This record gives sequence, C-alpha cells and structure tokens, in this order.
Amino acid sequence: MTSEAIKEAARDLETASAADIVRWAADRFAPRLTFATSLGIEDCLVTDLIARAKLPVDLFTLDTELLFPETYALWKRIEEKYGVTIKAVKPARTVAEQASAEGPALWTREPDRCCDLRKMRPLGATLANYDAWITAIRRDQTPERANAPVVGWDGRFGLVKINPLVRWTSDQVRAYVAEHEVPYNPLHDRNYPSIGCMPCTSPVMPGEDSRSGRWRGQEKTECGLHLRIPVRAES
Ligand code: SF4
Repeated sequence: MTSEAIKEAARDLETASAADIVRWAADRFAPRLTFATSLGIEDCLVTDLIARAKLPVDLFTLDTELLFPETYALWKRIEEKYGVTIKAVKPARTVAEQASAEGPALWTREPDRCCDLRKMRPLGATLANYDAWITAIRRDQTPERANAPVVGWDGRFGLVKINPLVRWTSDQVRAYVAEHEVPYNPLHDRNYPSIGCMPCTSPVMPGEDSRSGRWRGQEKTECGLHLRIPVRAES
C-alpha cells in the first residue's frame, strides 16, 4: 500500500467496528496477514473476532519462556475453544543459554537488551514473512499509544499495522469479554491489568496506572513492539 492509501484506510476505518476492521484486514492482506497475540484480555477479544468470522489470519505469540503458568494455560484453552493454533515464536536462546552468555537475570540489569533478544528479534524475523500485522493495543493504555491509527505503516518492521481496538476502553473490553464468554487470564482479576513476563510483571495498587506493574521501578514502559518510527511506506 502507498502511504496515501494507508492514510485513507485509517480515515475510512476510524469509526468502523473492530469486527469490520479485522475483516477488512483479512480481505486486503490474507494470507500474508498475522495477529501477534500477547494473550492479554484485549488480545483474547481480537482472537474471538478472528475465530468467530473464521478469518484466514495466522496467530502467534512471543514465547519468551518466562510467561506466567496462567498464561500458558490460557493459551491452551483458547486453542481448544476456537480450534485454532497459536504458533510459539521463541528466542534463539533458552533462558539458561541466555544466562550462560549474558549472565543471570538479564532482565534485572539490561531489560532493553533482554526484550530485544527474547521479543524484538524473534518478532522481526516472524513479521518479515508478512505484509501486515494486527495488534490489540488501545490508545488509552500509554502516552506512546495515544495517537495510534487504526491502520498505519510500521516503520520498525516494514509492514502495515492494523489496530482494531484503538478506540476501545478497558470497560468496553471487559463488557465484550463477559457478553461473549471469551476466555481470559485469571490474573487480570487479581490486580494484573497488563501481563507480560513473570520477572517484569507485578500487580498494581488501586489508583495506579494500568501498566505501572510492568518493569516496576525502572524507566522502561514498553518492550519496543509498539514504539512508532515514522518511516514512509513504499509507493
Ligand atoms: S519483559 Fe522482562 S523478562 Fe521478558 S523479555 Fe522483556 S526484560 Fe526480558
């Protein structure tokens, strides 16, 4: 897509329903379309939309091998309920191999490097096989996501990025999940609004920002997957 076509699609789809946005994405990009699910509650909702409509979208998750047991159990439940496969995208090194090469608990010393090795590089290698990817980010999650378009060019990974839930609030997500009986991580009901790797995720206290439990005590707020790099699309 040209950069002008991407902007036009973003304008046209700004007020479309999430179901219509993922259908548009499938019509436009499948089979070179993928959904990167982090297995958070928003991701479970998007999986529900894709599965209900039987859209031909490849699903994968970044398996850092450091996810919560509840997250691995949810992964299985979703595959069973919807009859889908969520591919595991793994880092080049196991946690033990990384500890041998980089020292133990890299996440406590250099979380950016740890995320690069265990998330960003595997993600980049996977996205290289596609023309577009779907994410489940919402604008009100972080300042970095506040201006996320429904459709945009992802300059970091060089493909189109589709964000069907950008206009949704947390309450709207909860309401959809309850109404449609979408499986979700029980940790969300135990003060974990945002769930990532075990070593870097803690519960939040009342009144705290929903992502304050991620990399608590560190300046880091994002693993880097959704930071915007303004690079023009190919014309
Ligand atoms: S979230 Fe933490 S443990 Fe997971 S890859 Fe990033 S730094 Fe490493």
